[in-house]
Amino acid sequence: MQENVPHAGRGETDGEAIPHWHDPDGEAMTIVEGEGATVYDDEGSAYLDLISQLYCTNAGHSNEAITDAMTAQMERIPYVSSAKGNDVRDALADDLAKIAPGSLSEVYFSVSGSEANEAAAQIARTVQDAPKVLTRWQSYHGGTAGAGSLTGDPSTRSTLGRYAATTGSEKFLPPLPTAFDADSPEDLAEQAANHVEFVIQNEGADSVAAILMEPIGGTSGGYPAPPGYFERLREICDEYDVLLIADEVITGFGRCGEWFGIETESVEPDMITFAKGVTSAYAPLAGVIADEWIGETVREEGYDLGQTFAGHPVACAAGRAAIDEYESHLIDDARELAPVLESRLEELAATHDVVETVRGRGFLWSVVFADPETGEPFVHPWAGDDDEENPVAAVREAAADRGALFGNGRPDVQILIAPPLCTTRAELER
Ligand code: PLP
Repeated sequence: MQENVPHAGRGETDGEAIPHWHDPDGEAMTIVEGEGATVYDDEGSAYLDLISQLYCTNAGHSNEAITDAMTAQMERIPYVSSAKGNDVRDALADDLAKIAPGSLSEVYFSVSGSEANEAAAQIARTVQDAPKVLTRWQSYHGGTAGAGSLTGDPSTRSTLGRYAATTGSEKFLPPLPTAFDADSPEDLAEQAANHVEFVIQNEGADSVAAILMEPIGGTSGGYPAPPGYFERLREICDEYDVLLIADEVITGFGRCGEWFGIETESVEPDMITFAKGVTSAYAPLAGVIADEWIGETVREEGYDLGQTFAGHPVACAAGRAAIDEYESHLIDDARELAPVLESRLEELAATHDVVETVRGRGFLWSVVFADPETGEPFVHPWAGDDDEENPVAAVREAAADRGALFGNGRPDVQILIAPPLCTTRAELER
């Protein structure tokens, strides 16, 4: 590779680097190795990976139990048709049914979180015989045409264009203080849940198959719901015969202190979608875990969800080993350290005028910034694009210069923190 090619994904023509779509200025670092919660760039600099790359390497980097399981599977048989049975795929489905809450036990594999959400939407439409899946503004459910229409993040929707963004998914307001004029968190919960009921009534309850939500907002700003919001939503869903789907692509696999984020809200969804942390991102794998009756109905309808790489055996072997790691110690370890993370972040809010608030749960947090003079965010809260002058981006850059990686999320008013669950107390303190 030529020395002037700064990004491994760029390619080149006639010695000229081709700008990578995700990194047009060539400023992204090139990461080449990782161990535990640390990654190394191509110049040997170490970074504490406080964002688990993309909220996904929950077991940390280079975990031998996972890589050994993948190697062993590759030596046995690397690929088996998704139309045939496979022992490791079946075993992972059993593992997932065991850790899923309540009567969620029917597992459908796919490859990415976007496809898992599309599958969940299609399953909901099939079993409910209704076309609409409601989602909230300030949400992210994927970037493909179908999942992008579920996403309520303005920047993703503007990239997809108005056609994909309008098929069968209506939006409602998130339970954020910026969206309602509420006196207290409880009042916010009530107003935001009543608003969902209003949207269902006005869309026509018969036309609404499901509502799909992240239990704790992820890339839209690490925001947990105010107390009582999910309980009320569960009641509304039951009253109007609408399914509740939890998008656990980020919040699953210990990220928020339990196996799944929705468990921290004490409600049972009808379906869960998962991806990222299921294999600790050691191989692409995703899927849906649905209630038993939903699985039975899908079988009766004969709906075929198959994709070539869905439930790839090597990814399933990674998933089984990752779940063992979470179960044997990682979830407990992270649960024990979460209060350290929380209290250190709250110190920031108490001591820095520029920190408007910190919010999150478990090992998923955001530090939200605002101009101390005006109280306004540095970019408009509903802005789609990053502002180059945005001081929040400067905070992330300064952190990277000091060896710590954070996430941004959209709108770009915060830094996001989602460390691997194996991060040590000393690393968190640092
Ligand atoms: N759902 C949520 C909550 C996500 O954060 C993401 C990706 O970040 C997705 C779905 C889409 O997953 P994928 O990028 O694997 O398609």
